[in-house]
Amino acid sequence: MEKRIFIPISRLHNGVKEIAKGNYHVKIDHTTFNEIGFLIDSFNDMAAKLQRNETLKQEYEENWKTLIANISHDLKTPITAIGGYIDAIHDGVVTSPEKLDQYLHVIKKNTLYINRLIDDLFLFSKLDMHQLEFQMESIGIKAFMDDLMAEFRFEFEERGLGFQYTDDTDVNYKVTLDGKRIYQVIHNVIGNSVKYGPPGNLCLKIRLYQKAGFICLAIQDNGPGIPEDKITRIFDRFYRIDSERTKDLMSTGLGLSIAKELMAAHGGKIQVTSVLGEGSCFTLMLPISSEEGSAPCIF
Ligand code: ADP
Repeated sequence: MEKRIFIPISRLHNGVKEIAKGNYHVKIDHTTFNEIGFLIDSFNDMAAKLQRNETLKQEYEENWKTLIANISHDLKTPITAIGGYIDAIHDGVVTSPEKLDQYLHVIKKNTLYINRLIDDLFLFSKLDMHQLEFQMESIGIKAFMDDLMAEFRFEFEERGLGFQYTDDTDVNYKVTLDGKRIYQVIHNVIGNSVKYGPPGNLCLKIRLYQKAGFICLAIQDNGPGIPEDKITRIFDRFYRIDSERTKDLMSTGLGLSIAKELMAAHGGKIQVTSVLGEGSCFTLMLPISSEEGSAPCIF
């Protein structure tokens, strides 16, 4: 009686006291195969779940603190710069109209940066909270990409940059997507090739093809490439390879993390390969669908 009932109940009692103190690491060993034994098994399951939730909560809080620290730092830098330039103008340090124009230009650039950071943060937080509304529709990928690529081609040609687009798909596959959001992903990736690529000498080679149930868009640039030890980190939020240099390039460190989340919301993914000194290739993959019609969905 003592072994089957009193000892296990006493252990259970101690376990409950530990949980009440916030110690979820408890696990009660037992060899009783009666109702009390089942109760102890349920207790152990509950303690393990509480422990998992606690770990997740701690990770979430850590992420949140890092996010706030990053945002504060990223906002403080341009705001301090704006304040400094305004003070200089106010104190009469700027005497020539050219200098004034220069200062105003820097102020404008910093306000644009803040605006961009806030837009990216807003989008990122909506994605993070699964509150971004998607207008999904089933479309033929060929025409969609043709239109989109014509837009980029025009922009590139206007700037004298190289742009090549090849459609290697055999049939007009159907893909379910939100056009505005996929445009945004492509815009972020191509925008990076422009930002980090050789100025005036950039050449993009883009290829559309089908592989293993996915429509793939490979965007290859002839930029600086990404070091092997950094490549896994570029999709992390706020990660920049060269944070000093990228400040001048309106970089928020959020573009690729947003792209990754948007692709995931489409059931797709984004991959990268890169050779240092030769260039990088970002591949966007969207699942091929055969369904017709449209349906809005929330991610
Ligand atoms: P951002 O460009 O705003 O800094 P991203 O999340 O878009 O943020 O990119 C993260 C980092 O990855 C960039 O800061 C840059 O260092 C690197 N990167 C992204 N795309 C390229 C590219 N095409 N070539 C070289 N480096 C790149």
